Amino acid sequence: MRYLYFNTHMVIIGLGSNVGDRSAMLDKACEALSLILHDMRCSQRMETAALLPENAPAEWDIPFLNMAVCGTTTLSPQALCEKTQHIEQKLGRIKRGMWGPREIDIDILAMGETVFVSDNLTVPHKALLNRDFALKPLAELVPDWRYPVPGEWFGKTAREIATQ
Ligand code: ADP
Ligand code: MG
Repeated sequence: MRYLYFNTHMVIIGLGSNVGDRSAMLDKACEALSLILHDMRCSQRMETAALLPENAPAEWDIPFLNMAVCGTTTLSPQALCEKTQHIEQKLGRIKRGMWGPREIDIDILAMGETVFVSDNLTVPHKALLNRDFALKPLAELVPDWRYPVPGEWFGKTAREIATQ
C-alpha cells in the first residue's frame, strides 16, 4: 500500500497594483492564482495611498488598488513564493527598487499557523501588522485567523488586530 502525505495550508495572499490598468492587473493575477489555490475567495478592492520613503520621487506617489485572496494549497511556503514571483514576472512587473511603483505586487500574507523565516521569505509577511491595506482584506476573508508568531500579538484574531 502506498501512502501520500500532504500538509494543507490555508493561504492568504495580498495583491496590489499602481501602474497601468490596475483593475485589469488584479483580474489577471486572480485568474492565475485561482489555478494554484483551491476554493479561492477574493476580498473587496480598496484604493490606498502609496507607502513611500521620505525622499521618494514625486512621480512614485500613485495610489494603489489593493485586495487579498485566500484559498488552500499543499505547496510549501518557498514553492508558493516561486509561483507568485513567476506570476508577477508573467504579468510584466518591472523592477524599480524598494517602494517603487509596480504593475503587480503579490505577497504571501499568511499560511495558516505557519511561521517561516528564511533569507528571502518571511511568513506571515514582515509588515503585515503595520499595513492596513493588507490587514483589512485579510480580516474580511478570514476574521478568525490567529496571528501565529510568538510575542505581543500571538493568538489575536485578524478581526481583533484589524480593529486596533
Ligand atoms: P515588497 O512587496 O516588500 O514591497 P517586493 O515585492 O519587491 O517588495 O519583494 C521583495 C522580496 O521580498 C522578494 O524577492 C521576496 O523574496 C521577499 N519576501 C519576503 N517575504 C515575502 C512574502 N511573505 N511574500 C512575498 N515576498 C516576500
Ligand atoms: Mg512584494
